[in-house]
Amino acid sequence: MKLTVLGCYAATPRTFTNPTSQVLEIKNHLFLIDCGEGTQVQLRKYKIKFSRINHIFISHLHGDHFFGLPGLISTFRLLGREKELHIYGPKGIKHAITLFLKLGDSWTNYPLIFHELESKESELIFEDEKVTVNTVPLIHRVYTNGYLFREKEAPRTLDIEAARAYRIDKSQFNNIKKGKDGVDPSGKLVSNKKLTLDPPEPKSYAFCSDTVYNEAILPIIKGVTVLYHESTFLESEEHLCEKTKHSTAKQAAQIAKKANAKLLILGHYSTRYKSIELFKKEAEEVFPVVELADDGKVFDFGR
Ligand SMILES: [Zn+2]
Repeated sequence: MKLTVLGCYAATPRTFTNPTSQVLEIKNHLFLIDCGEGTQVQLRKYKIKFSRINHIFISHLHGDHFFGLPGLISTFRLLGREKELHIYGPKGIKHAITLFLKLGDSWTNYPLIFHELESKESELIFEDEKVTVNTVPLIHRVYTNGYLFREKEAPRTLDIEAARAYRIDKSQFNNIKKGKDGVDPSGKLVSNKKLTLDPPEPKSYAFCSDTVYNEAILPIIKGVTVLYHESTFLESEEHLCEKTKHSTAKQAAQIAKKANAKLLILGHYSTRYKSIELFKKEAEEVFPVVELADDGKVFDFGR
């Protein structure tokens, strides 16, 4: 699982900072999460293959989270894309995008498939044999969802050393991989557990932006490997959270702690602050393992 942060600052694009967009690589998928203005340029800069993006998840319809989408959709057309593109986002996103395409008489040649969301409950919106994606309903000024990406538990793998030690014949290996017990040359049963290795623990990633402090998300993200939680403000500006429906670094850390996350990544910093190091310092007083997102930063969480 690997995360590339393309942009992680609030509000307007600036010379050296970009609005929200991330690419999550998980089990051979490249999921694009949010698509602020400038996302295409960032994708090029960090050498992410456009053709590998088949699913785009948009949290909400504020410009700094989706104004890059019409541009990216038309670039896909210019690049001769033929594959389906799936877009998940709040109800209204289809209308917004199709209006752009219609007015410019620039319909895509490839199938554009919208999955419009309007539920206030967490929903399973994507599933294949290795990954699931659920919404994480957030509280913001407009209808907003975070997303929880989860690896499914992999099957147990054959422990070749153990199989040799028990003198299990190769002809049984396929069945053992499927969960069957083995039989040694004397006809004695050897349990599957003795012949296989535990699969690696499934990893998960929760993207939670934009939102006020909201404990209702805890049951959904409980035990998550990596939590990205917005921290627009520092505690000194906490009075702005209620009106703007954003969180402080400290609040993000409280959510990480209560959710028993393994790692917290902060982002969506207000551009009023000169240094983002202060966000880390504030969060670390509540939760020990904090990283700062920054444009172009890559987090590799291993296989
Ligand atoms: Zn917003």
